[in-house]
Amino acid sequence: MKPLYPLRRTCKQAVALMIAREDRELPRLERWALRLHLAVCKACPNFERQLLTMRQAMGAWRHYSDDEPR
Ligand SMILES: [Zn+2]
Repeated sequence: MKPLYPLRRTCKQAVALMIAREDRELPRLERWALRLHLAVCKACPNFERQLLTMRQAMGAWRHYSDDEPR
């Protein structure tokens, strides 16, 4: 699918943005683009939910491993 205007993102790009967002703050333009995509896409909001669940699980795991004596 060809981008129709500058804020249009493909699912692949949206997923890349959501993953990048885990590590760093996205530029405002990208946040808008991502929000726009999530508003029109059927699949990506599901992926976002999975990512949030995964992040919580990872957070808990990281917490445990930090407590581990070295
Ligand atoms: Zn999508």
